[in-house]
Amino acid sequence: MTAEIMNGSGLAAKLREDLRTELAPFQASPPGLAVVLVGADPASAVYVKHKIRACEEVGIRSIHVSLPATATQEQIAAEIRRLNAARDVHGILVQLPLPSGMDTLAALAEIDPVKDVDGFGALNQGRLVSGLPGFRPCTPAGVMHMLQAGNVPLAGAHAVVLGRSLIVGKPLATLLLAADASVTVCHSRSADIGALTRLADILVVAVGRARMITADMVKPGATVIDVGINRVQQGALAGSLCGDVDFESVRRVAARLTPVPGGVGPMTIAMLLRNTVDAWHRQARGAHRG
Ligand code: NDP
Repeated sequence: MTAEIMNGSGLAAKLREDLRTELAPFQASPPGLAVVLVGADPASAVYVKHKIRACEEVGIRSIHVSLPATATQEQIAAEIRRLNAARDVHGILVQLPLPSGMDTLAALAEIDPVKDVDGFGALNQGRLVSGLPGFRPCTPAGVMHMLQAGNVPLAGAHAVVLGRSLIVGKPLATLLLAADASVTVCHSRSADIGALTRLADILVVAVGRARMITADMVKPGATVIDVGINRVQQGALAGSLCGDVDFESVRRVAARLTPVPGGVGPMTIAMLLRNTVDAWHRQARGAHRG
């Protein structure tokens, strides 16, 4: 068997095209997205650049706020409060991770829930768990969109999510559950991970360990979604990106597989743009609670 490669880049390009069409009449008063970067982490700087470029492409105004790594918690909070009050800013995201020593949850809690387009704040996470409308975290939303676009059956399927972070694993498990999958969540303390991953009809891997999932850990015919982004350290491909899944071996047993790059990454950015436009619509309607 050779897996069908799920093309996140193509799907994301279509979503961006739809947004560009939707926003074309509003060039004089476009949605605004503020991206707050604290410190100079090179990977974060690259992600911010990609997000800003994607905004420009569809007609969202981006506001790049850069704070030094030495910024205090209160300075970050003050900046977010300023953006909360700015009428031409409809979405705010704080690029993670923050420099060590910062209280990430406290910073996220400052973002007005109506502008929380990453969906990481407690109110939007709570609305997700409660099954209420709200901003869904972009990577999990992108994964769900890919599964639905690929006509992957979800109801009754056994989904195994590897990773339990606030930004990927946990919200994704909740979304899969809401779509009637049976969900198992694994993490660094799980025993015999291979025995669990081999049960998965849908395996989503978000751990940040290069090529950790090998063919022997995958059920033949499974759908495998690789969220991981890792920089190859050695060998001929040093410096390039790879996922948490060993692409070459797993493509021989899986029915569907996402590539890295070109899979979940572009979908994450497309969902961020969609959330920003939704925030703009809601604020225009005067809907100020989630
Ligand atoms: P975190 O580091 O926050 O979480 C990693 C999770 O993986 C934790 O739950 C951890 O368990 C678990 N884990 C770590 N090592 C193992 C192991 N050996 N076996 C089983 N579980 C393990 O990472 P994120 O969720 O933020 O990101 C995960 C990956 O996804 C990273 O590579 C990141 O770069 C990528 N990413 C990609 C995005 C995209 O757009 N494509 C967006 C966001 C992230 P425990 O909780 O026990 O510590």
